[in-house]
Amino acid sequence: MNVADSELVESILKREGFCATKNMHAADAIFVNTCAIREHAEEKVHSRLGTFYQVKKERPEVIIGVLGCMAQNLKDELLESKPYIDIILGPDSYRKLPGIFSRETTQNGNVVDTKLSRFEVYDDLFPSRKEGVNAWVSIMRGCDKFCTFCIVPFTRGRERSRSVESVRQEVSKAVANGFVEVTLLGQNVNSYRHDNRNFHYLLEELTTVSGLKRIRYTSPHPQDITEELLNVMAAHPVICNSIHLPLQAGSNRILKRMNRTYSKEHFIALAGKIRDYLPGVGISTDIIVGFPGETEADFQETLNVMNLVQFDSAFTFKYSPRPYTKAEQYSDQIPEDIKQERLQLVIDIQKRNTLLQNRKMIGNVELVLVEKESKKATDQWAGRTDSNKWVIFDKGNVRIKDIVPVKIMDARGVSLHGELLEKEEVCM
Ligand code: SAH
Ligand code: SF4
Repeated sequence: MNVADSELVESILKREGFCATKNMHAADAIFVNTCAIREHAEEKVHSRLGTFYQVKKERPEVIIGVLGCMAQNLKDELLESKPYIDIILGPDSYRKLPGIFSRETTQNGNVVDTKLSRFEVYDDLFPSRKEGVNAWVSIMRGCDKFCTFCIVPFTRGRERSRSVESVRQEVSKAVANGFVEVTLLGQNVNSYRHDNRNFHYLLEELTTVSGLKRIRYTSPHPQDITEELLNVMAAHPVICNSIHLPLQAGSNRILKRMNRTYSKEHFIALAGKIRDYLPGVGISTDIIVGFPGETEADFQETLNVMNLVQFDSAFTFKYSPRPYTKAEQYSDQIPEDIKQERLQLVIDIQKRNTLLQNRKMIGNVELVLVEKESKKATDQWAGRTDSNKWVIFDKGNVRIKDIVPVKIMDARGVSLHGELLEKEEVCM
């Protein structure tokens, strides 16, 4: 989401005649686009701002700006502890940037704008993207779910969606600019709704964009995975056969305390239904360990659900208390050493499950979108299967952005290793 937002910021500034540089010593203005989801993300920003301060000491005229969720969340603290920051803009205020520069307000003190909008504020704005395979396309912003651990409803505000036409236009433009895959983005992507058209309608509409090879989306909420959505995914091969299904916790007591709106039984049944509708689907998840009040028995239930569902991959987090949230107020916070122990256990279990799932693919012929050179060998490509697994294979005579048949020969760690097949060898 922040990559997509940074591309919007770049686009806004480009229109004013600015250009981007990665060299902070050459820059007239330096921005950090921030995330507030966990404390760790915030710590990284503080340390980055320390580096920018060194530049400011050498060149006091350089403008330093904090954008995004932390600006929203910590504006007063930032202004107090880091008075050298010139601009603080929340996620709905990026359009203010050119005005700020032209008024030269920064000469006379800081500019702060963290007002959140109830309407989509970037609908007509096309991001400035670098050349690549995948284009991030933001389709909705905000979240109305208020899980008790999560800061997003406070930093990003209420849910609002772009029009189908504007998303379609952006996707077509991305394809015309050479992108072959799009990933639709939203804090709660499948809550998308505009003029009574919901997420599955939008997805189906995008399958008709010619030249588009793949559509992915993230991050959905289990509550909004509808039968219509699964039907649309099953009917259109251009929509990737992969679903992110954040579990968070496996105990009903904790799920209720998190305000996740589903039970463990419902979640397990949903995962089964997804696999029935979409054979071969890749299912990934998010897990939080050490939520306030999580007992050893609650935690074991999370491990049980992980083993039952057999996710293909998981993003795993220690619970991090966030300002404004209900869970931060709970008195039964879990000590850090227990959180760390539990995190290690979920990481180990997921490693094993990922390998088990990946091994099942040995012998399959998978269609792989060639995305980049392998990090480990210059004569090999790395690309993803439809189900979102990385495959490494010898380069042969194919190029980045091709979709090619690859026979899976081995599964090591999180990646698969395969052999490129000639098209004639494939009978799909
Ligand atoms: N809307 C998505 C998730 C978006 S946030 C959903 O509801 O599933 C991405 C992930 O960050 C969450 O799924 C959760 O696992 C993690 N997360 C959010 N707040 C957190 C917190 N306070 N501590 C630890 N992890 C958190
Ligand atoms: Fe946060 Fe996702 Fe819950 Fe919204 S649905 S509050 S983004 S975890």
